[in-house]
Amino acid sequence: MQQNCLKRKLSFLSLVIPIYNEEASIPYLRTQLEAFLPSLSCERIEVVLVDDGSTDASRELCEKWAKDSHYVKLVIFSRNFGHQPAVSAGLQYARGEAIVILDADLQDPLSVIPAMIEQYEAGYDVAYGQRIARQGETWFKKFTAWAFYRLMQKCVYKDLPKDTGDFRLVSRAVADSVKSMPESHRFLRGMFAWVGFKQIAVPYVRDERRFGDTKYPFSKMLCFAWQAITSFSALPIRLVSLWGALVALIGFVICLYAVYAWAFDETVRGWTSLMGLIALLGGSCILAIGLVGEYIGNIFEEVKHRPVYIVAKTVNIDQEKSSV
Ligand code: UDP
Ligand code: MG
Repeated sequence: MQQNCLKRKLSFLSLVIPIYNEEASIPYLRTQLEAFLPSLSCERIEVVLVDDGSTDASRELCEKWAKDSHYVKLVIFSRNFGHQPAVSAGLQYARGEAIVILDADLQDPLSVIPAMIEQYEAGYDVAYGQRIARQGETWFKKFTAWAFYRLMQKCVYKDLPKDTGDFRLVSRAVADSVKSMPESHRFLRGMFAWVGFKQIAVPYVRDERRFGDTKYPFSKMLCFAWQAITSFSALPIRLVSLWGALVALIGFVICLYAVYAWAFDETVRGWTSLMGLIALLGGSCILAIGLVGEYIGNIFEEVKHRPVYIVAKTVNIDQEKSSV
């Protein structure tokens, strides 16, 4: 682990970009990157595009881009595996000393990258983009995102930075540490926080999506949050134990009351409390079993040791000449 802020120069930068049905964004992404990358002072730059099983023209657009530009590497999945597996694949194939993870819709502006590189050169291993504002998003999306990060930090992992997505620069050491973590449920921003090293926030304003639609509708966001919680923390299952203890305590008090009622001949009454108790206990048991089942499901997924993604094809991956 690095202890001091050492000055260093970044000579080889990788950009990892997950892509799922982004045909509307890719031409814009390409022109923006082609204009922006030469302005960086790094000697070598590579762009690693990961096509996460797109069903529109994204794959063809990426293949053309990779054929036209030797510094663009392309990894094509055999189907849609999800955003986190796509970023994981990008980390696997990236060869840079530092890696920037970027969304294809450029909601996270390229203009923030020089500030991240500056932090890397000042000795930080992770420079994560922290959203101080989000433009063009509904109050509902803003609220759920706000609640998600606070819930995660309070209950799941205290060092998880707030309002921080996957947009960040990570050093080779951090990327290798995350790659060495074998879990198949990958909550990358939690994993980046967990590995430690010197980390710093780079504040920025998140732009709105210019083309196409979000690939994270509310149902997918809920699944993502649930996966994040249950893959990173045993807290929900501990809360169930606590709830079980509370229900047992209430049950004990009710037992005392039942004895009292029997002693004073009031046994015919109490139907309501009995029904309430049965419902409460039944509900709690099913809830607890369901939650235990979730964790067993996760264990089941992990012990299968399946790969996180399957690569159908790569373009330019073995090409050594990879600078802009
Ligand atoms: N993405 C992906 N696989 C998926 C969903 C999304 O590779 O299953 C990519 C998507 O193309 C984009 C990034 O992940 O580059 C973030 O997705 P999006 O912009 O839709 O998320 P939002 O910004 O709305 O949270
Ligand atoms: Mg987006």
